[in-house]
Amino acid sequence: MQESIIVEMIRVSKSYDKQKNVIKEMDLTIREGEFFVLVGPSGSGKSTLLRMIAGLEDITGGILKIGGRVVNHLPPKDRNISMVFQNYALYPHLNVEENILFGLKAKKVDKGERQRRLQEAAEMLGLERLLKRKPKELSGGQRQRVALARAIVSRAPLCLMDEPLSNLDAKLRANMRMEIRRLQQRLGLTTIYVTHDQVEAMTMGDRIMVLHDGKIQQVGEPIRLYNEPANTFVASFIGTPK
Ligand code: ADP
Ligand code: MG
Repeated sequence: MQESIIVEMIRVSKSYDKQKNVIKEMDLTIREGEFFVLVGPSGSGKSTLLRMIAGLEDITGGILKIGGRVVNHLPPKDRNISMVFQNYALYPHLNVEENILFGLKAKKVDKGERQRRLQEAAEMLGLERLLKRKPKELSGGQRQRVALARAIVSRAPLCLMDEPLSNLDAKLRANMRMEIRRLQQRLGLTTIYVTHDQVEAMTMGDRIMVLHDGKIQQVGEPIRLYNEPANTFVASFIGTPK
């Protein structure tokens, strides 16, 4: 068995009622422990692809496997994944601690274990002194740290991130890139990271996949894409950072 493959897509397609062929017969494998960046222009299908892996959108063709098991119609809660969104998706009426632990209570993780995971995540992300605050009392960067902490405490082996830094200013974004990579490496967490930012892709990815119009243009290490772009789209997209 190929135990190092965590996500496998075999001719996966997606059409919406109003928009056909958003993802076109895609073959893709993602390896355990890698930081895999999905990059492409707006409208290329990045979020759709991530949402299909999460189970938030149905696939309309092909086979999707996570951890070796076909998950085509499995609901999100049974997929053992965590997600970090652009808008943080925190509960405004809950404090930081409650936001971080929300999913664990639902999964009946016992109190001692919840506290252990909370302390660990808070320490990793520098949230120790913010645990009693409400989201509205936090800066954008702090909110995004809470969203990351929530993903970490779940212990899900696969983390999906959809443009998690795009609401932050440039300086904070650069810091958070490094912080996310440090965290991901420390935990050995397989991560699929969506961005439309070429610099982010090139600096963060173990491997990058360039998506355009629902089709894979190229998959490979950043240096490979830079030196040997598969086509003119990849060459111009990777070659011209904004
Ligand atoms: P990206 O994240 O790369 O910007 P999306 O996956 O959001 O791209 O969108 C890809 C295409 O699918 C776009 O043409 C978009 O308009 C369309 N699309 C996305 N979500 C829906 C939806 N719920 N219903 C219909 N069309 C959609
Ligand atoms: Mg998107």
